[in-house]
This record gives sequence, C-alpha cells and structure tokens, in this order.
Amino acid sequence: MFQLFRNGAPRTRASLVAETGQSRSTVAARIDALRSVGLLAPAGEATSTGGRPPSTFAFDPGSRIALGVDLGATHARIAVTDLAAEPLAQVDEPLAIADGPDRVLTWVAETGKKLVTQAGRHMDELAGVGIGLPGPVDHGTGRPVNPPIMPGWGGADVPAELYARLGAPVMVDNDVNIMALGEHRTMTPEADDLLFVKVATGIGAGVIMDGHLRRGAQGAAGDLGHVTVPGAGDIPCRCGNSGCLEAVAGGAAIVTRLRDSGAAVETTQDIVDLVRSGDVAAGQAVRQAGRDIGSVLAASVSLLNPARIVVGGILAGAGEHLMAGIREVVYQRSLPLATRDLRITPSEAGAQAGVVGAATLVIEQYLAPSSVDTLIAAKEVS
Ligand SMILES: [Zn+2]
Repeated sequence: MFQLFRNGAPRTRASLVAETGQSRSTVAARIDALRSVGLLAPAGEATSTGGRPPSTFAFDPGSRIALGVDLGATHARIAVTDLAAEPLAQVDEPLAIADGPDRVLTWVAETGKKLVTQAGRHMDELAGVGIGLPGPVDHGTGRPVNPPIMPGWGGADVPAELYARLGAPVMVDNDVNIMALGEHRTMTPEADDLLFVKVATGIGAGVIMDGHLRRGAQGAAGDLGHVTVPGAGDIPCRCGNSGCLEAVAGGAAIVTRLRDSGAAVETTQDIVDLVRSGDVAAGQAVRQAGRDIGSVLAASVSLLNPARIVVGGILAGAGEHLMAGIREVVYQRSLPLATRDLRITPSEAGAQAGVVGAATLVIEQYLAPSSVDTLIAAKEVS
C-alpha cells in the first residue's frame, strides 16, 4: 500500500480502500503501522461533500536521510538528502581518487558526518550510503574490478570499509550508472527507456530500461568506451585493443589531436573553454568526436530502442557541436521506427546527477516493499 504514496499525492482511508480493494480495517491498521515508522504523516483534510471532512495522509520524506557520494578522478561531491532525494546539505571539493581507498573513504565518512550535523540531522537517522566510483564495480560485491584510474582500489571492500566508519548500509556502483539514475528520476521520469552517455576524459553509458537501471550480469553493461569505432584504424587504447571509442573520441584523445595541431590544451575542460571561445578547429574536433560517439550509439539504438539519449560529462559542456555530431550519425544510421520519437538531449541535472542518483540507490532499496515490511515488523517487536 505504501508504494501508492511514493508519488507524493495525499490519500484518504476511503480512497485507499477503493484503490487496494482491502477492507477498511486493514487499511486503517496499515496506515497506523506506516505512521509508527515515520513513513506516513497526516496531510490535512480532504474537501468534503458533506459531514466531517476525511483526514488525508502522505509520504513523509523527512523521516530519514540518505548520503549520496559521487567520486571522480580528481573531485568529490557529497550530499545529505531526504527520502525524496532532495539535498539538505552538500559539498564539492577537490579529491584525488589515486590517494587510495583508506584515505579517500576516511574523508568521505568524516565529511558525511559533518554534513549530517550541518543539515541539523543525526547519524541514527541515516537510511544508508550510496557511492559512485569512477571505474568498473562488481555489482554483487560492491568491489571495484581492475579500475584503470584508481590505483590501490582493485578488489577493495568499499561496502565494509564505509559501514565500519558510518554504521549504515552501503551501496556501490559506477559513476555513470548513478548519473543515469539521477538524471532519470529527477529530469525525465516519463522516459522509461533511456541511455545516459557520459563524455569526459573517458566515455561510458548507463542503461535505464522499463524504468530500472540495468547493469548486466556482472555490472559491466554500458561500457561503450571500448567498443570499436568503424573505420577508426589502429589508434591504441589503454585497454590494450585499438580503435576503441574512448581512444578516438574521449577528452584525452581530443586533447592530443588539438595539441598536435598547436593548440595550448591540457585537460578536457580546456577543450570546452576553447570551443566556447569560438575556436574553429576545437569546434570541428568536438563535432567529429560527436559523430564517432554517434556511430557506436546507432548500434545501441538498434539494440535497445531508447526513447531518450541524454549526454552528460564535462565535454557535454561544449554545447551544440557535440550534440550535432551525435544526432547527425544516430539519425542517419538507425532505422526510422527506432528514431521516430527518439530525443537526444544534453543532461539537465548536470553535476547534481551523481549525488542524487547515489542517494536514490539507497532510498529505493529502503522504501522497497520488503524493506518497509521488515521495518514495520521490527517496530512491532520493539
Ligand atoms: Zn579500449
């Protein structure tokens, strides 16, 4: 019954009887149970057609908090949110993932505790911690697997390490998956089938199908960066293969190409700045990267038929050049039926997508029907 309240709309006892087909006494008992664990709160009175107006109840997102953590190669963002994934307090600071799990996770735990206090809340209200890492994560164990830009993190037991420091359940995923989830839940909940593509120094994708994040058998779904670009030749990739999308169209590849032609660029952000300043060569390089990404995405469109492709990551900040290159090739190479209603748009959640998605991982687990039943059973025993 609680799941009916998740969209936030208040309900009366009578409307719940009608919606669930349960008896009035069963509904009343369930409302009492949900109120006892803080998930429902009175929401005023409904308008009456005569007689005493009926009381309404609504989901109370303030009853618990979640911690969303988004770790990049060189920065970290952490947010304390309520159960609607609305941030209550957050920080965004430089942090080198290469410092290793011990130092980084200690910082995460200390910063998380400070934020909880800053939001005026307590650690015993914490429903859980969601964390996104910039590398492949085994979904079953929450451990990073051969992460290329995270020295020292291979096989690290991130859930256990953070649980020891924060005392709440921990869910780990890769950064693109949490961005996909954050973007979907906050900006495009109506698009049940969505591909989120992160274009930064590396390239990856998060897959939402039927409204759910799809990770594949081991959690490696969406790793577009190492798909071969048709006609790319033998450009070597850090993975050992050649002609991979990331080696052809990632930020690092574009930096190398622009440098070779004499431009003063060091980072992916420099490319974005150069494009924004109106530099023609940089604009063309980004547009070509868009076409290369489009050639790989066209295959994904044929395979998955998404309603929406959302492009995020630093390079998405270069604006229309990247989007135009992607659209050009996807619409040209995919079948009309698959692209008839397909929209390809830049990310709207932007830098917030990661922390909101990480908190959402925790919240959806915490509010799942079986978890709510467990919560109520525990309350009745105590
Ligand atoms: Zn590769």
